[in-house]
Amino acid sequence: MNIFNFLRSYIAIDLGTANTVVSVRGKGIVLNEPSVVAYRYDSGRRQVLAVGTEAKTMLGRTPENIRAIRPLRDGVIADFDVAESMIKYFLRKVLQSRFLTSPVVVVCVPTGATSVEQRIIRESVLRAGARQAHLLPEPMAAALGAGLPVSDASGSMIIDIGGGTTEIAVISLGGVVYATSIRTAGDSMDEAIAAYIRRNFNLLVGESTAERIKKEIGTVNPMITENPQRTKVRGRDIPSGSPREITLEETHLAEALNESVVNILEAVQTALENTPPELSADIISRGAILTGGGAMLHGLDDFMRDNLGILVTLAEDPLLCVAKGTEVTLENLGQFRNLFTEAG
Ligand code: ADP
Ligand code: MG
Repeated sequence: MNIFNFLRSYIAIDLGTANTVVSVRGKGIVLNEPSVVAYRYDSGRRQVLAVGTEAKTMLGRTPENIRAIRPLRDGVIADFDVAESMIKYFLRKVLQSRFLTSPVVVVCVPTGATSVEQRIIRESVLRAGARQAHLLPEPMAAALGAGLPVSDASGSMIIDIGGGTTEIAVISLGGVVYATSIRTAGDSMDEAIAAYIRRNFNLLVGESTAERIKKEIGTVNPMITENPQRTKVRGRDIPSGSPREITLEETHLAEALNESVVNILEAVQTALENTPPELSADIISRGAILTGGGAMLHGLDDFMRDNLGILVTLAEDPLLCVAKGTEVTLENLGQFRNLFTEAG
């Protein structure tokens, strides 16, 4: 074996709307940080201040001349420059610790990304120092990560609920047969929680607070017990403008999240209706897999199963499923070559 091949690194990137997860072949996950970039603006020029975890703590807390941006927020690249800076930063961070030659990179992209967006992602990765960049459709990565047989002739359905988008796809024979993406996902759940609190309690809370509440006591079906889960929430009282604290219970969350959950359910129903009959027969017998952080909402799997009438299973490690699936392709790029999208 040639020494350069030995030193060559293979890197997988799950470029999510909420989190970016980077893995290295033979090492597993080496970086898992929010997809956020914070900028400082000085007389019209902007300068990167922080990326990832550090930048996320600044969301909603920045003074006027600093802005924290989520470049992929809605599943499409809102700001190309910001996205590129973020990709470069994460890749350099991972590469810094190694004395390796330029890596071969597989990046996972949402199926809704346009060819221009795909090209930009690929070019950013190449400009960051990669010698090859392959793009892998996200549902394919999720399916591989969940251990589904993607190259089989039987159909599999993947429902990936991320931050900005929910991606619903049917795959068969190594290809995406049907894919749709809706903007109802984790972020819209956070917005729904904040709106609910504003409407019912006259209290303003930011999106980070809403997200925390969702993770702590968010549920689709509240448990009817004497001691429901509760959490304290601080915000700004709307009439007076002064700080105030309230206590929320699970039932409030179920009410606040109802519309988001129904939106996702309806999109899955539409996807089932649009699936070729042979494949829908496979899905009816094998069920669908839920991945992505949003899928961890308590009771969501049961709700989907009850309303769709098919088996719906929450993947193991939903937040890491796409990253793990992308990493699988690093093991044998030749074998998985036909799964990659070759953007122009
Ligand atoms: P993306 O792939 O778009 O980056 P992720 O799969 O990383 O998204 O999921 C991030 C979303 O998952 C966020 O909206 C986050 O609030 C949500 N999330 C994480 N943990 C939970 C939980 N326990 N319950 C509900 N939502 C969660
Ligand atoms: Mg994702």
